[in-house]
Amino acid sequence: MLSSSGTQLLRAVAAYSWRRARPRLSPPGITLTQRRRLHLAPPFLLDDYIPRYQLLSEVDAAKKRSLAYAHLTKCNLCPRLCGVNRYETTGMCLIGENVKVNVIAPHFGEEPCIQGHNGSGSVFFSGCNLRCSFCQNHDIAHQRNGFDLTPEELGEWYMKLQEVGHVHNVNLVTPEHVVPQVALSILHARTLGLKVPIVYNTSAFDSLASLELLDGLVDIYLPDFKVWSQKASRRLLKADDYAAAATESIRVMHAQVGDLCFTSDGIAKKGLLVRHLVMPGQEDEAQEIVKFIAENVSRDTFINIMEQYRPNAHVGKPKRRARKKADGAEDGEGEESGEGVRYAEINRAVTTHEVSAVRKAAEAVGLWRFCDPPRHDGFAM
Ligand code: SF4
Repeated sequence: MLSSSGTQLLRAVAAYSWRRARPRLSPPGITLTQRRRLHLAPPFLLDDYIPRYQLLSEVDAAKKRSLAYAHLTKCNLCPRLCGVNRYETTGMCLIGENVKVNVIAPHFGEEPCIQGHNGSGSVFFSGCNLRCSFCQNHDIAHQRNGFDLTPEELGEWYMKLQEVGHVHNVNLVTPEHVVPQVALSILHARTLGLKVPIVYNTSAFDSLASLELLDGLVDIYLPDFKVWSQKASRRLLKADDYAAAATESIRVMHAQVGDLCFTSDGIAKKGLLVRHLVMPGQEDEAQEIVKFIAENVSRDTFINIMEQYRPNAHVGKPKRRARKKADGAEDGEGEESGEGVRYAEINRAVTTHEVSAVRKAAEAVGLWRFCDPPRHDGFAM
């Protein structure tokens, strides 16, 4: 029996099924399939693809189930290392034994190779293990905002996305703090007949333990590499050393799935796709990030340099008077002071010059697979 919010979501998913009925137009004398087979890059082209979770043996699946339950009883699954029993309480991510989900629906705001024609089956989780001052989803990331689902119910939603929404993949958005539940949900969905790839859409603040649990379950890793320096990590993300976790995680992700590969319809099926959101005045951070990817991951990494940064969350809010903490430090969380705004250095959109500087830096270190509109009439591969 679905709750009323569950029914609403099911309607949202069903609304996308109209796309299936739309006629597709092709020029006379040429079929759509023929057109799509142009301009493919053979090293990254797959004849066919079976999701990794479908190839897992029953023994390995059982091991993963036990590991997932064990992690929940003493959670050190992300660099926050809270060590809490999530059946009894919550850690920094605010989420216990069940996931809290804000939206489940086909989504058309992803890269063309991820969203395709039918959309990416996105699951937006509430809660997060980072506290980015500029978070573009702070209403669901910094507070619990959504409805609770058990891992089994979550797996059943993947089936609805596949069967009703006809999506190209299941896209888990900000899942770092719910990895055990995600692992259990994928294992449940595989018994129900899930056959689309799983996308792990992460801020890259992951741990080796969680990536080990995900090995064999995830097909596409989609990490957003945010900042490089400890200073920026502490100030903007409220994490001591984000880059240390992100660099280690992205190396392991690439070791698991390799470079991004596509089938001949232009849809990504397996591999690593790295995002970087260009931020105002932070080109030095970006230059270190693209250098790391080229030198330590792969020059064939598919990369999306994003320009849509806008001030959000705490950025541009009135400054607060610093409050003395017990150790004498100031935490800046006191009353409004009326003098200036918080995070003034990133309180604007990025310029085209800044975006183009990051792109040039990426090209200079040898990266070449960018998420650009194709220069030909085929797919961006
Ligand atoms: S996933 Fe949540 S509870 Fe577990 S270590 Fe991270 S923040 Fe803490």
